[in-house]
Amino acid sequence: MVKFEKLAEYYGVLEGVSSRLKMIEIMSETFKEAEPSEIEQIVYITQGVLAPPFEGKEFGVAEKIAAEAIALATGYTKEDVEADFRKTGDLGSTAENLVSKSKLKRMSSSKPNVSDVYSSMVKISESSGKGSKDQKIKLLANLVASSSPVEARYIIRYPLGQLRLGLGDATMLEALSVMYKGDRTLKEHLERAYNICSDLGLVAKELKSKGIKAIEDFSVSIFKPIRPALAERLPTAEEILEKMGGECAVEQKYDGFRCQIHKMGKRVEIYSRRLERTTDMFPDIAAAAIKEVSSKEVIFEGEALAYNDVTGEFMPFQETIQRKRKHGISEKAVSLPLRLMAFDLMFAEGKSYMNEPYEQRRQKLEQVLNGSETIKPSKRIITRSAKELEDFFNSSVSDGLEGIVAKDLKSPYIAGARKFSWIKLKRSYQGELSDTLDLVIVGYYRGKGSRTEFGFGGLLCAVYNEKRDIFETVSKLGTGFTEAQMQELNNLLSKIEQKSKPARVDSIIEPDFWVYPKYVVTVKADEITKSPMHTCGMSIQEDGSKSGYSLRFPRLVGETAVREDKSPEEATTTKEIIELFGQQKKVRVSDR
Ligand code: ATP
Repeated sequence: MVKFEKLAEYYGVLEGVSSRLKMIEIMSETFKEAEPSEIEQIVYITQGVLAPPFEGKEFGVAEKIAAEAIALATGYTKEDVEADFRKTGDLGSTAENLVSKSKLKRMSSSKPNVSDVYSSMVKISESSGKGSKDQKIKLLANLVASSSPVEARYIIRYPLGQLRLGLGDATMLEALSVMYKGDRTLKEHLERAYNICSDLGLVAKELKSKGIKAIEDFSVSIFKPIRPALAERLPTAEEILEKMGGECAVEQKYDGFRCQIHKMGKRVEIYSRRLERTTDMFPDIAAAAIKEVSSKEVIFEGEALAYNDVTGEFMPFQETIQRKRKHGISEKAVSLPLRLMAFDLMFAEGKSYMNEPYEQRRQKLEQVLNGSETIKPSKRIITRSAKELEDFFNSSVSDGLEGIVAKDLKSPYIAGARKFSWIKLKRSYQGELSDTLDLVIVGYYRGKGSRTEFGFGGLLCAVYNEKRDIFETVSKLGTGFTEAQMQELNNLLSKIEQKSKPARVDSIIEPDFWVYPKYVVTVKADEITKSPMHTCGMSIQEDGSKSGYSLRFPRLVGETAVREDKSPEEATTTKEIIELFGQQKKVRVSDR
């Protein structure tokens, strides 16, 4: 069994390294020491969660609770804790400092295992309702009181969601491969398994207890969400057809909430684009999945959007988003009914359809939806003609939709990856990139002039480089914010400020404040240009200078300040920026 202190020591080392290879090495050592029964917990703890995120288990521990627990455990006053926190800016370090100075005797002489700490954390998370705050404080204080200083650092950071290890899921997958085989060659298999269950702990446990064969045979299961397939972009109908080998399906593209629906008998769960359980938000769709879908066991996917029963028209996203609420859900379901336009099927009646070609999946989808009302298959055509594709695109746009998604008739469902088996073509606006970009905030600037009031001046934004599992800067962002958005950003960002550049950020520019990569914003820009200031896609040019990519005239778009349905790893990637750069050149040539 691994002692928590050992894990904490590994974390301490991890925090200090920025080389990815070194991180993989350290993490694989940790995994090697773990028993099959505890590797799952180690993975969750390292991810900063209690269970796979789709289970929605929250710690319910705010900074105030953590601060009180530290005071109780160390015998210091709340004021002492706050004073130290002001210096460190991190309650974990404060816990570490005060535990090492505390005159109270360590509560227990035996050192807890990882599983002891984990089960206490589960208890903390499960305590709810009246008196739960005090109970959480007590439980957390007990843990801190029996910890060494370095253990205390992570025991406090973990439930606050602030581990700061700089370790992404991709790096953990490689570490698992190294643990098992001594090199990184199993990463692809592991990634595939992860993409179809979204549960990294489970993948680690299967590998450790049953070996690589179990990972290769890994299959979908109901109530474990599949990481969604994503679409590439191409600028013209001709290019899409050519890429698809001369023939493809073309589906209308609906702008609402992506829903992955899992049904077994009378139980239905709906997962979001980000694989969060959102069943409660869609009682009408869940009911329809039971009543209207003929298959008893099924996983399928579609876009839910508001629909006007009288005119038969879909409503824009600004209307649909009103369904995103915590209260009055059933009233809103009546006044603003949704339709689910289903576009894929991954499992039905005990059989996985993941490896079946699109056309087969589609036929099964239409079969299980036969006669349904609320849930309909997406509208589509199959074509060999660029003209027909373009006409279908134009008619979709004039129906108020976003555009189309073209689909390769022969392709399997490719979970968790952006591949050319799906290609989107969206309405474009003149003089602008045709699509918005989703950027990760890695830093921000103090305001000048009228903006100083709440200290906010703009953002430093990055894209995700999948290969390096790191965030590369691509743009500063200073326009498009409403006052409320600035205030919100200021609130959110001040909580995740970092003293120095976070481990997973690659940047030449120094913002006023660094922040942990956590929030994603949607940005529109006119153009992608080359720039020596940004690290996105940075490479050496013919003349020997270094150049990356950046955005021209970037501005924030969207109703909300940050995009909640995307994690930093799901933001626009470096690869996409480079592709978009290539495409815009082509468009310009063909415009002439
Ligand atoms: P992405 O999901 O590709 O990261 P995004 O969330 O910004 O990007 P878009 O770029 O607008 O979304 O396009 C992809 C999304 O389009 C899908 O995630 C899905 O929710 C939606 N969509 C709507 N209609 C369809 C359809 N017929 N087939 C596939 N996806 C569709």
